[in-house]
Amino acid sequence: DTVMGLRACGGETEAALAAAEDEIYRLDEALSRTREDSAVSRLNSAAGGTPADVGEELRDLIARALDFSAATDGAFDITLAPVSSAWGFTEDTYRVPEDAELALLLPCVGAEHVHLEEGTAVSLDQGTRIDLGAIAKGYASDRMAAIYQEHGITHGIVDLGGNTWVCGGNLEGEPWQIGIQDPARSAGALAGILEASDAFAVTSGGYQRYFEENGQTSHHIIDPRTGYPAENGLISVTIISADGTLADALSTSLFIMGPEEASSFWKKHRDTFDAIMMKDDGTVMVTAGLADHCSVTTGGNVEVIQE
Ligand code: ADP
Ligand code: MG
Repeated sequence: DTVMGLRACGGETEAALAAAEDEIYRLDEALSRTREDSAVSRLNSAAGGTPADVGEELRDLIARALDFSAATDGAFDITLAPVSSAWGFTEDTYRVPEDAELALLLPCVGAEHVHLEEGTAVSLDQGTRIDLGAIAKGYASDRMAAIYQEHGITHGIVDLGGNTWVCGGNLEGEPWQIGIQDPARSAGALAGILEASDAFAVTSGGYQRYFEENGQTSHHIIDPRTGYPAENGLISVTIISADGTLADALSTSLFIMGPEEASSFWKKHRDTFDAIMMKDDGTVMVTAGLADHCSVTTGGNVEVIQE
């Protein structure tokens, strides 16, 4: 249910777009956990049993996901699948689960329940399920960049729904302008504009997928420490990086960390990404590297995070 848009210019455009589209369908078939025949579903069904051979690509992606779990102190966690399902986010059957129900699921959540085995095999402990929803589109955008490069594309935009990759600059030789959604307003209303060339920009926010029950709003980014939607002071996080998979994983992770922890995380890893973070009090935090490449139009306070 994600609208994707691809544009290409310069080079073999038709072939690049056809290959890119095929690749998106191929990855959906391999990585979606709602498809019974996907490699991820086969791994999930094998949980608690013998290791499953998932192939090199999926094994490498799971290995990266485990690295992000370690780097983010567990904020990023692909094993939240049973918890997301309890909230109904996977099947679109939204409901607020009981505390007791979550307490039964949480012991099977955690990177320590995922094991990289010999060759290209992976195993999961009994009761553990994985969901690559927070990283798969980022990986797909890295693949799009590779396909564009193979076909000599010089300018382009790939929008995989909250995951944008800009190829080169625009046709006037300037950086592309990427709009940042204002989480407080309707879809398409912007909070700011970011200028970038050859970069991935990925946004995670609680406003993208959520439901309301008894006056309480619940969104789909879950804090692994509690099993509840993360409410740690941020309403949206955009990551800009030369690595699409990393940008996707970290947009989810920093959203969960909240402003202070996210700022110190950036200070430790500032060589690999920049970020725009919107706080629930209207403040927009921008990392130092972006200050000159991003304009904020919400009228809220802008705070530059310095190294
Ligand atoms: P989107 O899918 O809207 O682009 P994200 O990249 O932030 O947003 O991914 C959110 C999805 O990732 C959820 O729908 C869920 O499947 C999964 N998820 C939820 N919480 C976490 C988490 N703490 N770590 C990793 N994946 C998560
Ligand atoms: Mg993500």
